[in-house]
Amino acid sequence: MKITDFHRDKRKSLSFEIFPPKKDDSLKNIDGTLEVLSELNPDYISVTFGAGGSANCNKTIELAKKIKNDYKIEPVVHLTCLHYDKAQIDEFARILSAEGIQNILALRGDRNPNVPEKKDFQHASDMISYLKDKGDFCFLGACYPECHPESPDKISEMKHLQEKVEAGAEVLLSQLFFDNDIFYDFADNCKIAGIHVPVIPGIMPVINASQIRRMVTMCGASFPPRFQKIIHKYEDNKEALFDAGMAYAVSQIIDLLTSDIEGIHLYTMNNPAVAKKICDSIRNFI
Ligand code: FAD
Repeated sequence: MKITDFHRDKRKSLSFEIFPPKKDDSLKNIDGTLEVLSELNPDYISVTFGAGGSANCNKTIELAKKIKNDYKIEPVVHLTCLHYDKAQIDEFARILSAEGIQNILALRGDRNPNVPEKKDFQHASDMISYLKDKGDFCFLGACYPECHPESPDKISEMKHLQEKVEAGAEVLLSQLFFDNDIFYDFADNCKIAGIHVPVIPGIMPVINASQIRRMVTMCGASFPPRFQKIIHKYEDNKEALFDAGMAYAVSQIIDLLTSDIEGIHLYTMNNPAVAKKICDSIRNFI
């Protein structure tokens, strides 16, 4: 089933993102996480792909197969292209087709100074154009309400996002953000730019101080004053910070659900207890 099918009936979708376990033998151990997540009835679960051509990438496909075959949930495979050539991307596409996995989140991938970049694909849109006629795929793309860190300005960012959609991205999943007004402005700008595919907000519940620091350095997400106050007040109180982070994410999601959005993508960080708590709190609003 293609992700676009979930959006055809105008129902709001609920999706989760997980990552493959790092240790070799631990695919088995992810069952505990998947059991809880599957009971929450997501429309799909997306599986991240190791950055910079890491050796973890085949585990992405293994995990996606497990989600599809053992849990009967539609997987979305993240696929990066900057560190692969055409033959390698062909091979990933061949395996996905053979496994009946149709949904690909097409990504350029982050630059990794330790891994040489290949020349075949410079941008996510290059890979979408290349793969479009190579299988019956549905492509999703990434988008950045606060701009991608490499973008010189919002206008060129929007122009390239438009190109990604023209290349064949049928759904856009957003980078995490903590200020809904930034997302609403971005979604409006997408419409003005003629982008009419679903733009799905990505929400990450922030539950500890180290995660907060990582978010600021890695993706440059801005923290609205209301959230900053909570972080400052409770940064040394683990339990309070956890509860406050959960409450903040729930309030963000409820606000989004009451607006004109087409789904919620939850960055679960492979923490099923957090995903369950959030879903229990928002169930009546979906
Ligand atoms: P692109 O769409 O190629 O854009 C990258 C930059 O290039 C942007 O600044 C864009 O404006 C610019 N650009 C695009 N096209 C052109 C053009 N034709 N000419 C000039 N400039 C252009 N990374 C992983 O390694 N693994 C994952 O599993 C993963 N999952 C992610 C999931 C989501 C929902 C998101 C939002 C990000 C994810 N990332 C992941 C991170 C992502 O790989 C990085 O943000 C990466 O730096 C950009 O990828 P992209 O596909 O958005 O790139």
